[in-house]
Amino acid sequence: MPQLAPRRETFDAIVVGSGATGGWAAKKLSEGGMRVALLEAGPKITQADFTEHKQSWQLPYLGMSPKVIQDRPIQGRCYACTEYNYKWFVNDTENPYVQDKPFMWIRQRILGGRSNSWGRQSYRMGDIDFKAASRDGYDVDWPISYSDLVPYYEEVEKYVGISGMAEGLEHLPDSLFLPPMDMTCGELALRHAVKDKFGRTVTIGRTAILTKNHNGRAACHYCGPCERGCVTNSYFSSPFTTVADALRTGRTTLITDAVGSHIVMKDGKAAGVAYIDRTSRQPREASAKIVVLCASTLESTRLLLNSGICNSSGALGKYLMDHIYQGGASGIMPQLEAKPWAGMPRRPNGIYIPRFRNIQEKETNGFIRGYGYQGGSSPSFSMGAPGFGAAYKDAVRKGFWGISINLWGECLARKENYVEIDKNKVDAWGIPALRISADWSDNEKKLWHDGREQAAEMLKAAGAANVNMTGQFSIPGFCIHETGTARMGNDPKTSVLNKYTQAHDVENIFVTDGAAWVSSGCQNPTLTMMAITVRACDYILREYSKKLKA
Ligand SMILES: Cc1cc2nc3c(=O)[nH]c(=O)nc-3n(C[C@H](O)[C@H](O)[C@H](O)COP(=O)(O)OP(=O)(O)OC[C@H]3O[C@@H](n4cnc5c(N)ncnc54)[C@H](O)[C@@H]3O)c2cc1C
Ligand code: SF4
Repeated sequence: MPQLAPRRETFDAIVVGSGATGGWAAKKLSEGGMRVALLEAGPKITQADFTEHKQSWQLPYLGMSPKVIQDRPIQGRCYACTEYNYKWFVNDTENPYVQDKPFMWIRQRILGGRSNSWGRQSYRMGDIDFKAASRDGYDVDWPISYSDLVPYYEEVEKYVGISGMAEGLEHLPDSLFLPPMDMTCGELALRHAVKDKFGRTVTIGRTAILTKNHNGRAACHYCGPCERGCVTNSYFSSPFTTVADALRTGRTTLITDAVGSHIVMKDGKAAGVAYIDRTSRQPREASAKIVVLCASTLESTRLLLNSGICNSSGALGKYLMDHIYQGGASGIMPQLEAKPWAGMPRRPNGIYIPRFRNIQEKETNGFIRGYGYQGGSSPSFSMGAPGFGAAYKDAVRKGFWGISINLWGECLARKENYVEIDKNKVDAWGIPALRISADWSDNEKKLWHDGREQAAEMLKAAGAANVNMTGQFSIPGFCIHETGTARMGNDPKTSVLNKYTQAHDVENIFVTDGAAWVSSGCQNPTLTMMAITVRACDYILREYSKKLKA
């Protein structure tokens, strides 16, 4: 519903964005006693919007709607944006940005943001990531260590529910796991061969999906297309967990369809957030004593840039990162009999091969840092079999047992990868848009090539045949793991935020999403974003709320 009257109440805190991080901020702050306004640019979502059990023949265009690409030429390139759910993704015409170099910016504007359709892969980072600069001399360390985050990882994991298998690796610390999903025969063959021949680990994916009933949510029933919603709330999405908890306190006011444009400043401090009502396009304002930005990495930085604040260091907008991916290897497992099936169960998860490069060494084959793999092995129908008629049908049914793994590589933080406000472009609400300029460095390209070669070697070691190296460099942004642009640091001259994600320049502004990151690691980032958010909120409740009362 559009808000037609100006809001007179001064909240203790405004949280901008209700996705993976904003849901946590609203929950923590309101459960801690603060009165919170949760500003969300998109509309509400309900279980009636979920379509994971619908078949394509139940859709108007059988899953091939031209609207997806017409209004969403960028979003429509993401595997998760389909006729089923495309309205959850931003309309690219209404939400333009300038690509100085190709950059795929995938966004959802709806209650819960991208937590509605994320891939749910969840991995802790370790000191190999937080203290990477001390190990290899590139750039700077994070102002926090792994030990600072452990209690917050635990708090998030206990609540969210992460299924996985403990492997005891220091460089990929174990979470508090729910029971792991099973690996297939092909995956177990790879696990054993890779351990024997390389000393490397192949494990089941660590995923924010319940393998048993947990915190009032039901275990997964393996229907498959999680990116379209989940009636049993078996995967973690903020509207049905953290945001619901925040609302239950009675201290959170949810304001949907509120497109934040800038932070309102008074006497050197944030006094609130100006926003445009998405449907009526009327300007509005909400007031608060603290502003917590959780609008997603680039949207949070855009809000700061459009406010003209928090940039005494000159670092705001700089050091944009994503993961390089879309490279790996595939083959078939001739030793396994394929018995493909078309229906359930569809395990919504794959396997993971943790980073093995530059664990002891500083550099391998001319690159620093590393990559991990995601992939899987399962029987498939031979749709490309030759022939026709009954013989063709038999060949299709006979199928084959396939295997593939693909790398996710660390991206170095570089000043040359940046965002800024474009002077000539605004969005449908008149808010100045971003210009994004990012490209891979030689380091990302070298580790990508190495990752493909190693992928092929590992598949061959597992007995795979017809092994091919696959893929091409992903376009920056397309991994949807964008981080950086408002980095944390101890030195206000070189960083935007302190170790609690509090702005050096404006003490009552916090930015707890991926914008705060110093380096990208190679793990999927959201678990760490949520842990950092919970840590920041603990700090706000512990230290900052004293000042508010004073
Ligand atoms: C298909 C897909 C697969 C993914 N797979 C994985 C994975 O396997 N593992 C992983 O770790 N990550 C994955 N990700 C990334 C993950 O979704 C994000 O890292 C995570 O959601 C970021 O959380 P956030 O709170 O910063 O942003 P979001 O969850 O995107 O939420 C941001 C919210 O802020 C709102 N907002 C934005 N601008 C404004 C504004 N100006 N005013 C008000 N509100 C605003 C948005 O509408 C949105 O609701 C995936 C993402 C996608 C799309
Ligand atoms: S596969 Fe599991 S988590 Fe995914 S939508 Fe189905 S029940 Fe939910």
